[in-house]
Amino acid sequence: MSTSRILIVGAGFSGAVAARELAAIQDRKILVIDEREHMGGNCHTKRDPTSGIMLHRYGPHIFHTSREDVWAYVNRFAEFGPFINRVKARIKRGVFSLPINLGTINQFFGRNFSSEEARAFIGTLGDSRIDEPRNFEEYALKFVGRELYETFFYGYTQKQWGCEPRELPTSVIKRLPIRFTEDDNYYSDRFQGIPREGYTALIKRVLDHPDIEVKLGTAWQAGMAGEFEHVIFTGPLDQYYGHHLGRLGYRTVFWERSDHLGDYQGHALMNYPEVGIPFIRKIEHKHFAPWEEHEKTVVYTEFSKESGAADIPFYPKSLGPDKILQARYLEQARSETKVSFLGRLATYRYLDMHQVISEALDFTPRLAEAIRRGQPRPVLPAL
Ligand SMILES: Cc1cc2nc3c(=O)[nH]c(=O)nc-3n(C[C@H](O)[C@H](O)[C@H](O)COP(=O)(O)OP(=O)(O)OC[C@H]3O[C@@H](n4cnc5c(N)ncnc54)[C@H](O)[C@@H]3O)c2cc1C
Repeated sequence: MSTSRILIVGAGFSGAVAARELAAIQDRKILVIDEREHMGGNCHTKRDPTSGIMLHRYGPHIFHTSREDVWAYVNRFAEFGPFINRVKARIKRGVFSLPINLGTINQFFGRNFSSEEARAFIGTLGDSRIDEPRNFEEYALKFVGRELYETFFYGYTQKQWGCEPRELPTSVIKRLPIRFTEDDNYYSDRFQGIPREGYTALIKRVLDHPDIEVKLGTAWQAGMAGEFEHVIFTGPLDQYYGHHLGRLGYRTVFWERSDHLGDYQGHALMNYPEVGIPFIRKIEHKHFAPWEEHEKTVVYTEFSKESGAADIPFYPKSLGPDKILQARYLEQARSETKVSFLGRLATYRYLDMHQVISEALDFTPRLAEAIRRGQPRPVLPAL
């Protein structure tokens, strides 16, 4: 292996976009390795051989962004089908629309409010004694009141995070809007869709460049660095350092698959927020491709648990002790000269696809310039 090569660890969106951008602006050869046998990281999709349905193998992925350049970028590599994420919640009383919107409020309280009436009504439910909410629970109690909180947020959050919502920061609930219109689009971004042939085909095209070589089934080993001019690491930050300070906390999810004929729930994502139900949601994959027709249907019932050493780390917990540990690992990462850390795992943050693409697009030209000039590598702002 020549020293004028760059090694990228991870063939998810972060690694793929970084590889493509470096290949476009550098006369260096790029090697991308991934320990898995496929490209795409957690966005990996694969057609199911029995039903023909495109399965999102590591959980449902809906692409959304407000950045025009990011939307144009992904559309260079795939044709996107139109998809609006409309999430439902099934409770004993029926099926309700999330995020909480005017329709949810009227259905739940059996009313016929206008937008402004609903806003005023919800205002009366909030706990006015809470001045500055200090955690998820206080935020919910202050802004939607106890009944909506306990119905739609409490159980789901407890099951997903394995802790009491009052132990979580307000940032977790702030991601979920409350709307006083009939808008039931889960996201507020300008662009939204799903690649018609799946994310893996898209990422394969991103990596299809004469200066990029991809080796799957190849795990990173510390000794590899010496053979390369620079390494971009997109795997877990604590794993890079051999967990020598301890393990960063993650939640993982796993699924039980069931196969049916026809339609199962008439919808892609059905949340189950009630406490007595052990799973958190049911995912009916064929509804992510409404432009396709399938006789059969495949449902994944999703469970959440603490991530162990052998599990795939999905959601960073980012509780107090994790934050301290993250800061200590990041301090080490900042002092590296030959390694850059990119993506959700390597920076220990929950990031959507458009965010990791944005960061890779913004970071890579600066890195290329630094390598070209033989200067110290730039540091990702998040570090
Ligand atoms: C359940 C779930 C649902 C999601 N839904 C959405 C959604 O609807 N919309 C959205 O925008 N985002 C969604 N996301 C976020 C999305 O998955 C991430 O933004 C994206 O996967 C981040 O890409 P990445 O390349 O940084 O990381 P990853 O996709 O995790 O890729 C990292 C790659 O590195 C490889 N790797 C790790 N360690 C090593 C090693 N030691 N050696 C070799 N290879 C290694 C891994 O195998 C993996 O392929 C969701 C995330 C989860 C968990």
